[in-house]
Amino acid sequence: MHVKAEVFPCPGCGSAMRYAPGTENLHCDYCGSDQPIDVPPLTPEVKRELASCLVQAQSCHPREIGKVLDCPGCGADVSFEPLTIGEPCPYCRTPLLSEPGNPLPPSAVLPFVIDHKAAQKIFRKWIGNLWFAPGALSRLVDTEKALEGLYLPFWIFDAETRSYYEGERGDAYYVTVERIRTINGREVPVQEQERRIRWTPVSGATSRSFRDLPIAATDALPSGLLSGLQPWASGRMRSFDLRWLSGFGSYEYSRPLEVGYQEARSIMESVIDNDVLRSIGGDEQRVYGIDTRYDEERFAVPLFPIWRSTFRYGGREYTIAINAVSGQITGERPYSYWKIFFLIVTILMILGTAAWLYQHYGGY
Ligand SMILES: [Zn+2]
Ligand SMILES: [Zn+2]
Repeated sequence: MHVKAEVFPCPGCGSAMRYAPGTENLHCDYCGSDQPIDVPPLTPEVKRELASCLVQAQSCHPREIGKVLDCPGCGADVSFEPLTIGEPCPYCRTPLLSEPGNPLPPSAVLPFVIDHKAAQKIFRKWIGNLWFAPGALSRLVDTEKALEGLYLPFWIFDAETRSYYEGERGDAYYVTVERIRTINGREVPVQEQERRIRWTPVSGATSRSFRDLPIAATDALPSGLLSGLQPWASGRMRSFDLRWLSGFGSYEYSRPLEVGYQEARSIMESVIDNDVLRSIGGDEQRVYGIDTRYDEERFAVPLFPIWRSTFRYGGREYTIAINAVSGQITGERPYSYWKIFFLIVTILMILGTAAWLYQHYGGY
């Protein structure tokens, strides 16, 4: 499907402007001029009622339609994978954008705060902390393409919960008991302290508010990696506008709402389980049943900013991600087997030397 490419030309020189992280502006790299991004303030209505949307969840499923855009920078036909909103032109790097196509458009945007330079610094520091990291990795950080700025969709959920529970509270106490022990080959009676639990039946209620519980709405990055980037400063979200996305890769949700909600529910349940244990108190707890009411359930599907690096090492692919608001970094760590090998050899040599010294000088 051919669609119109949205670009934001500079009023001064006509080149395509990009969103400048940490600001409220589009910036022109050529003439240096800035253009404010004026969006209406975010209203509470960006959060939709969950129940009604879950009923017709089928109609909200992602629409995987590929698009072809004419790049106004170089004239090339640029194809977008399904569920892509924006990407730089692969030939001339002009920031290309297209209108979202999913039934639920992005609710809001959390704009980038950390720019490319700052992200490189975070990445370099992280690698520096990896004593076993291969040297090739340190050199990779300095290349321009090492980090890619992406806006990824998340489902965020709100809920007011009230849970009624039944169980037993266990309080520990100690009793002195006499035992027969064998000491130096002789059987002797000894006094010992023994831990016992006194169980009391309990029932009660706890409540908890969940706000903006984030669940990855995309498979573009492993979900374990994305959950490691929490918390998200969702209070800083702004109204959705393509201008925030200019110059970054940006994607729509590919995981259905009900899948995201299922995941959110199991997280909420485990938080509630812990609340119940704490509410029962005592030294040990038995839980017979928890009955939870979920009220005022709402959701939204905002875009959150991430710096990503994907690199190959030793025939394997690794991905790291940085929360582009907080600077939190997560990822798998490759190890240099040579560095580990030499460390082990060094330790063995030190141990060997110590043993030799002890034998020759310490043993008299
Ligand atoms: Zn300009
Ligand atoms: Zn181009």
